[in-house]
Amino acid sequence: MTVESLFPRLEPLLPRVQKPIQYVGGELNSVVKDWDAAEVRWCLMYPDAYEVGLPNQGVMILYELLNERPDALAERTYTVWPDLEALMREHGIGQFTVDGHRPVAAFDLLGVSFSTELGYTNLLSALDLAGIPLTATDRTDEPVVIAGGHAAFNPEPIAEFIDAAVLGDGEQAVLEITDAVKAWKAAGRPGGRVELLLRLARVPGVYVPRFYDVDYLPDGRIRRVVPNRPDVPFRVHKRTVMDLDEWPYPKQPLVPLAESVHERMSVEIFRGCTRGCRFCQAGMITRPVRERSITGVGEMVERGLAATGFAEVGLLSLSSADHSEIGAIATGLADRYAGTNTSLSLPSTRVDAFNVTLANELSRNGRRSGLTFAPEGGSERLRRVINKMVSREDLIRTVSTAYEHGWRQVKLYFMCGLPTETDEDVLEIASMAHEVIRAGRAAAGTKDVRCTVSIGAFVPKPHTPFQWAAQADASTVDRRLKLLRDAINAERSLGRAIGYRYHDGRPSVVEGLLSRGDRRVSAVIRRVWTEGGRFDGWSEYFSYDRWAAACEAELPPLGVSLDWYTTRERGGTEVLPWDHLDSGLDRDWLWADWQEALAEQELDDCRWTPCYDCGVCPGMGTEIQIGPTGRRLLPLTPVPSALAEPAEPAPAG
Ligand code: SF4
Repeated sequence: MTVESLFPRLEPLLPRVQKPIQYVGGELNSVVKDWDAAEVRWCLMYPDAYEVGLPNQGVMILYELLNERPDALAERTYTVWPDLEALMREHGIGQFTVDGHRPVAAFDLLGVSFSTELGYTNLLSALDLAGIPLTATDRTDEPVVIAGGHAAFNPEPIAEFIDAAVLGDGEQAVLEITDAVKAWKAAGRPGGRVELLLRLARVPGVYVPRFYDVDYLPDGRIRRVVPNRPDVPFRVHKRTVMDLDEWPYPKQPLVPLAESVHERMSVEIFRGCTRGCRFCQAGMITRPVRERSITGVGEMVERGLAATGFAEVGLLSLSSADHSEIGAIATGLADRYAGTNTSLSLPSTRVDAFNVTLANELSRNGRRSGLTFAPEGGSERLRRVINKMVSREDLIRTVSTAYEHGWRQVKLYFMCGLPTETDEDVLEIASMAHEVIRAGRAAAGTKDVRCTVSIGAFVPKPHTPFQWAAQADASTVDRRLKLLRDAINAERSLGRAIGYRYHDGRPSVVEGLLSRGDRRVSAVIRRVWTEGGRFDGWSEYFSYDRWAAACEAELPPLGVSLDWYTTRERGGTEVLPWDHLDSGLDRDWLWADWQEALAEQELDDCRWTPCYDCGVCPGMGTEIQIGPTGRRLLPLTPVPSALAEPAEPAPAG
């Protein structure tokens, strides 16, 4: 049955809202397929505004992958701003996709990608606007709501609102889910929604919360989480895509119509990271390292630039300078696009992986943007605790080299509230920043050098060695951030050259609640949303008081509290809400790593040292995939944008 576009009803409202262009769709490389020709229809959502959601690589990859199938279609939806939400409610217009402006409620599946837990209230807005019951067990014919993304590694706080979660890489999982839905529909929908969910629970990597019961101990901790039926797995294991060269997506990246946070084409040059930074959930849950080959990267850049016309290519990964052939990639791409103003960028650079040649190659054809380094911890002691070992001398030497070679702006990222942190650890950031400016002025021979210190509050995350740690309370974080500001400004002549950016600690407390929460937290999320909570990742909309009041109302009757979830250190035997969800990391290894953190002991990267048995490779049947391949990229000759077949790789050697 054909579904009507909502656009004729939406269009008259658009002159009355901010940035109406974000709702019209029709971006370069977007697709609107024939509704009736598709057997399985996905709506993909990024639960934030268009400008944040459109560049999201996860959504873009799945959108293209699904639309390549003749039997499936995928459209996108983003969170509408409160001004349009009010008008949609007034006029009875439901949540719509930006591609075909079709009602979200008409799709078979609603896949929501959560990069951050602060998007949970936006999920409820979209469900409610779509006319989909908030509680998953109240749904009958509505779309199956599936969470993905990093936050899905502990979906328990939203277990009540979702039908399923996908753990790990989504490429193969969405195709298998599509097959399962197609088969169930073709068979006449036997057993209704519950049978469909059972079939999905048998797809590797898919977790269906309603098939698991949680029991609690009298003191509020979890006694156990067990399946409530025999035909679902006891533990759900994450999905891992091997050989990224076989998955060169997105091939046709979307080009935003309205301003967005990243105006560039992105190519993921590897997935996973084994540096072992103990605070980093992304690094832990995406193990092992899987590199895209230099020729695979070259083909994606070539095809993507031709398809989009972007002038900047972002070489993405968790630590891009660690690619075993990053030098050859940067040089090869700079050669290829010589004279075209196509610039290359890395999201941030490890101090120990930076070299001037690489930095020069990245900026050869385009503008020279600032350099960003992330020492994360202020003191060497603290950097041993978090396993981000970079010495102060290394940092000063690296930034001096950068200033000497013409860079004038360096950004340094830190965290506050890390386990075992003291005031002195944080204050060392000030003396480090002062030294950066002193050394930078000496190296550059001018006073015209700048450095920005950016600092955010640390949030302990599931599936990391710090999952047991007590989170620092907001007042401690705020006090240390103010001490640091005063210490930076205490040396006036240096302080003037240092920018200081920080956020107060309270949003991180809420993020901490949502990150390590369990099913009891869903009542808090529902109350916050009911009382107007939206866009919690945006400081102008976030209300700590609303969250604190909701916690106060909902949690004490259950014997728990906001502090219980955030500032409480967990014991080694406590059942954690996500223990039945397997990221591949061995729990005993994580605990041992936590103890080593407390003992200030470092751990090397298993890419370059023997395996230390974190559990991922044998448990998941995967392995580290790194080069070097020894290949190189040939320059493109005639017209840089008129691209045909990818260049043949040169022979090795
Ligand atoms: S199992 Fe070994 S090689 Fe694989 S990611 Fe863990 S430590 Fe590294």
